Amino acid sequence: MTMSNMLRLTNQIVIDKAKQLGFDLVGFAQADSLEDETEKLRQWLDKGFQASMGYMEKNPHKRKDVKEILPNAKSIISLALNYYIPDNYTNEKDKGKVSRYAWGKDYHLVIWQKLDELETMLKEIDSEFESISYVDTGPVMDKAWAVRAGIGWMGKHTNVINPEIGSWFFIATLITNYEFDYSALIADHCGTCKACIDACPTHAIVQEYVVDANKCISFQTIENKNEIPIELKGKFDNWIFGCDICQDVCPWNQKFSIATSIREFYPNNKELTYDEVMKLDNESFKERFVESPVKRTKLKGLQRNARFLFE
Ligand code: SF4
Ligand code: SF4
Repeated sequence: MTMSNMLRLTNQIVIDKAKQLGFDLVGFAQADSLEDETEKLRQWLDKGFQASMGYMEKNPHKRKDVKEILPNAKSIISLALNYYIPDNYTNEKDKGKVSRYAWGKDYHLVIWQKLDELETMLKEIDSEFESISYVDTGPVMDKAWAVRAGIGWMGKHTNVINPEIGSWFFIATLITNYEFDYSALIADHCGTCKACIDACPTHAIVQEYVVDANKCISFQTIENKNEIPIELKGKFDNWIFGCDICQDVCPWNQKFSIATSIREFYPNNKELTYDEVMKLDNESFKERFVESPVKRTKLKGLQRNARFLFE
């Protein structure tokens, strides 16, 4: 047996290593089956609230039970990376707003690198440590795991809120064969507030904790590959890529947001004018957005959004 095999990882070691890499929050959950969460997902899908995001229907068994992904899974490590930058929009009439999460470098690129480093470090400490990690891709219910791992509670706008930093964070999920001490849940602190529901310009939060993607500006400007329904015309409040209104109005963000330490998230693409978007061709679009989440719409989608807002 090597020395490394003799060391056991602890919660504190994982927390220290994750924080050293810049993660803001770390939580641990037992790798149980997500019965309630997947039942809610099924009801949401049955209502067609996923719109054209067909991938949400795929691999339900993996979403429910992470042992379908890692057969000897014992725990989930949920990690949050704050992306809040204390800056705002000019709100000039001819400028389309980009959602905060997409102002800088694509978070997948930033987080994948950090996860690689984290998993390597943990494996160096104990070679028995096995893990599979996800960032917002694959059949893993990252928000549900974040809640179970005590990162925060699910707000009525369906984003996870932490009482110390609000909700401007990305979530990464590590499925592991390792046992840890499990984190306490954080109680729902939405209370009687319904600021997000009242502020949503398209009434996409159809009931508390339920968002209908068909009506959501974020879905329509990023995920929808077709034309945007005409009945939503005039309701987008100049959002050209994504929408942050429900998080902007949340009192937990207004009181507790703190600036990210990740330089790569600082803005390159905060606002885009109609003219600059319409002037792009495939090559200049690729060049400008190669490392930005905005590339997801492709040129066609971004120009469709510009036309929808400004023509
Ligand atoms: S992202 Fe915008 S459109 Fe979607 S639910 Fe929130 S406020 Fe409504
Ligand atoms: S705005 Fe209010 S109701 Fe909505 S998520 Fe925040 S605290 Fe909850």
